[in-house]
Amino acid sequence: MIKENLQHIQQTLSKGVTLVAVSKTKPIADLLTAYDAGQRIFGENKIQEMVDKYEALPKDIQWHMIGHLQSNKVKYMAHFVSLIHGVDKFKTLVEINKQAKKHDRVIDCLLQAKIAKEDSKFGLSFEEIASILTAPEFMELKNIKIVGFMGMATFTEDQQQLNEEFGSLKNFFDTQKQKSNSDNCQLSILSMGMSGDYALAIKNGSNMIRVGSSIFGNRNYSV
Ligand SMILES: *Cc1c(COP(=O)(O)O)cnc(C)c1O
Repeated sequence: MIKENLQHIQQTLSKGVTLVAVSKTKPIADLLTAYDAGQRIFGENKIQEMVDKYEALPKDIQWHMIGHLQSNKVKYMAHFVSLIHGVDKFKTLVEINKQAKKHDRVIDCLLQAKIAKEDSKFGLSFEEIASILTAPEFMELKNIKIVGFMGMATFTEDQQQLNEEFGSLKNFFDTQKQKSNSDNCQLSILSMGMSGDYALAIKNGSNMIRVGSSIFGNRNYSV
C-alpha cells in the first residue's frame, strides 16, 4: 500500500509543494519501499532513530528532523541532517550553529511558530520570531540558515479554525519574507500540513507538507 499511497498523494500535489514522508516508528523495510517508489525526503522526530535509519539507508536520502529538539542530541545528526523543522528556542539555534561549524557546513532550519490554540503544541509567537530574526546575536550565527517557518494546527475538524491558523502563519511568512533578508535568513519554505489537514494547508500557502499515516498507515502509538 505504501507505494500506492505515495503515488496518490504525489498526484494530488501541485507543483512546488514538497512532500516529506514522515517515517517515525516505521521499520527500515517501509522506508525502503517508499524509497523504491521514488521518495527521497523522510521526516523523523527522534534523533537517535533518524541516525540509525540514516546509517542503514541509501545516502541520497534527505533527512528532515521534525520533532521537538533536545539541544544535547543535536551533535549526533549535525553531519547529515538536511532540514530541521522544529526550532523553537534561540538557544537551540546557537547549539545547531556550533555543531554545524564543527562539520564546516551550514544547516538549514525552520522556526516553529505556535499557531494552534491548544496548549500542548510547541512553538514561538510571531513576536518572538520577529525579535530573533532582528537580534544582533542572530546575525552572528554563520553556520545556520533560517529558510522558513513550520506550524502545526490544532487537532480539529473545524475547517474555519484550521484556515485561520494556517492563514495567520502564511500572512506572517509573507511579511517577514519582505523584511528579513540576511546571509542567514532567506525565507522560502512554509512547512504546514499533516495527513489530516494538508489539503487545507496547501490552500493556505503551504509549500512543504509532512505526511506520515496517510503513507505508512497508522502508528502503533501516538508520538
Ligand atoms: C508525526 C508528525 C507528522 C505526521 O503526522 P501524520 O498525521 O501521521 O501525517 C507531521 N509533523 C510532525 C511535527 C509530526 O510529529
